[in-house]
Amino acid sequence: MVPQILRSRALAAATLAVVVVGCLVACGGAPPTAKPTRESPSSTPAETPEPSPVAPPVRVAPVASSDPNDLSVVVNKLRPLTPADYAPADVVEVAVPYANQPFLRREAADATVAMFAAFEAQTGLKMQAQSAYRSYSTQVSVYAGWVASKGQAGADLTSARPGHSEHQTGLAIDISALPAVCTLQACFADTPQGQWLAANAVTYGFVLRYPAGGTPVTGYEFEPWHYRYVGVAMAADYAATGATTLEQYFGLPAAPTYAP
Ligand SMILES: [Zn+2]
Repeated sequence: MVPQILRSRALAAATLAVVVVGCLVACGGAPPTAKPTRESPSSTPAETPEPSPVAPPVRVAPVASSDPNDLSVVVNKLRPLTPADYAPADVVEVAVPYANQPFLRREAADATVAMFAAFEAQTGLKMQAQSAYRSYSTQVSVYAGWVASKGQAGADLTSARPGHSEHQTGLAIDISALPAVCTLQACFADTPQGQWLAANAVTYGFVLRYPAGGTPVTGYEFEPWHYRYVGVAMAADYAATGATTLEQYFGLPAAPTYAP
């Protein structure tokens, strides 16, 4: 005869065994049947936050190009175009009002049209292209004209020598008010056109190339009318860094004068 107490202990041991075996499955190293949320089917898997911290994207420092076909090309008094008589292959007419019929590289032309349209829509005012792409031979004439009127030293603060003009890249445009007010003068900065461009051109991929106070770096006087297309992404990065010249942005030496 098995005493009641022994039968109770046997039953308790059997129960414990069941619990232990069960716990090996449910409580031990084996994964639970419910997987983490991120592995479960979901209609918006991209919105599920990652459980571990993710390193922020590393910003790659911009590098200036010497290739005039590149949007990151920098042309200044120490960085002539190569070749000197470079001509972009994809210049197109820019469909905006103008003082001189404007041509730019296609991407810059499209951005210019969009920028002018936005300006007119937002302000009810107009502006025009004063000068855009200029060939090497055109720059020969333009520079000679400035030398004749201001002498070489004066001309060099205003106009690039042939082979050194950003206008020859097909990525630069001079903009003026329509009707004309302060055309190619520092007071253009105070016009509605000049103020709107200073605040909004970056949105369309343009940067002010020759800012006030920038002469020791750029070699040119303040030109609130001269904008250089670098593309929307680079312009946004340029603005985010707080750079005021392309030389500063790319970490290039100042170029106040031509090499001897
Ligand atoms: Zn210009």
